[in-house]
Amino acid sequence: MSEPTKLETIAAANGIAADTNFGAVTPPMYLSSTFVFPGFERSGPHEYTRTSNPTRALLADTLAKLEGGAGAVVVSSGMAAVDLVLSQLSRDDLVIAPHDCYGGTHRLLLSRRDRGHFRVVFIDQNDKAALAAAFEDKPRLVLVETPSNPLMRIVDIRAIVAQAKTAGAKVAVDNTFLSPALQRPLALGADFVIHSTTKYLNGHSDVVGGAVVAADAADVEKLAAWSNIVGTSGAPFDSYLTLRGIRTLFPRMERQQQSAQAIAEFLAGHPRVAACHYPGLPAHPGHAVAKAQQSGFGAMLSFELRGGGEEVGRFVEALRVFRLAESLGGIESLVAHPATMTHAGMSEEARRAAGITSGLIRLSVGLEAEADLIADLKDAFAGMGKQNV
Ligand code: PLP
Repeated sequence: MSEPTKLETIAAANGIAADTNFGAVTPPMYLSSTFVFPGFERSGPHEYTRTSNPTRALLADTLAKLEGGAGAVVVSSGMAAVDLVLSQLSRDDLVIAPHDCYGGTHRLLLSRRDRGHFRVVFIDQNDKAALAAAFEDKPRLVLVETPSNPLMRIVDIRAIVAQAKTAGAKVAVDNTFLSPALQRPLALGADFVIHSTTKYLNGHSDVVGGAVVAADAADVEKLAAWSNIVGTSGAPFDSYLTLRGIRTLFPRMERQQQSAQAIAEFLAGHPRVAACHYPGLPAHPGHAVAKAQQSGFGAMLSFELRGGGEEVGRFVEALRVFRLAESLGGIESLVAHPATMTHAGMSEEARRAAGITSGLIRLSVGLEAEADLIADLKDAFAGMGKQNV
């Protein structure tokens, strides 16, 4: 029988009914930290869970198949996944990073740069002149986040890969905002895919985890070895839960992005909204590229209140269905204020350069009824009283 190739089938069924001990349909969870050696100087397939573990291996195998990579390394957080890729660089190596990336990624890049681990340049990766200048400096790694957090800017992965190949650089794409259900960067030529599995892959806001998928088997080996050396391997229980979340990845993404599109259209037409950032809107500057390289527009969006930062507190506290919390990608809808929450660690100057204003609000659209979500936003706007714009 041939192996299933449809991604929906891999997500729903990879490893299902493969248990040879008892015929368990759901793959068992192996919490054991250590594994018996069958004989002296003879180890089994797993020795010690920091190095490898059957439950984590099944999650890695599923992620590698979903992203179309040679293998995956599952680690303890999305930040550990970003760091795993960065850990392969040396002090003179240059990283081209997006100026509007997730605040934690920005902080990590600066912290490692300040310790002399590598050089980094933050640029708008859609600025052709800035990109060309950065490539002149022979970078080793281009880090891409598309769509970006929180401004939903789109980077043309194929185009940046072509430039990177010419310059001899590798490309790592943070695919957290879309998951392999909606975007597969390795098929577009990238070398690494990074995930905060905390978000859509797990999807239920009860795990913090991360993964790196590599196109090349030699890279997988190097990354796995480093994760073992520094001990950032993901916990088996977290792997079990993440795998359970992945079973429903496709229908979740499908439903959540339908609501996100409707919400983006509602916000784009609202008099209190100065701008709505969602790649599914034809007016979004990255719409055409997103349409070409993604198989959906996703369930994240952000928007600017016309009244600016002063209105944010009243608005977010008036919401009842959207909960004010960091993170994203879960089944529950969340609202966040990047300037004071997810991107508070960035300097004001860096936030200004990236375009993250005090009036910017980010939404992660969940599985609640679309009508309730839109009604929640409408009520919050209405509760703000007369508009003084
Ligand atoms: N990458 C992106 C795009 C993110 O949004 C986040 C977290 O919000 C991370 C990486 C870090 O993931 P984690 O919180 O699992 O460490």
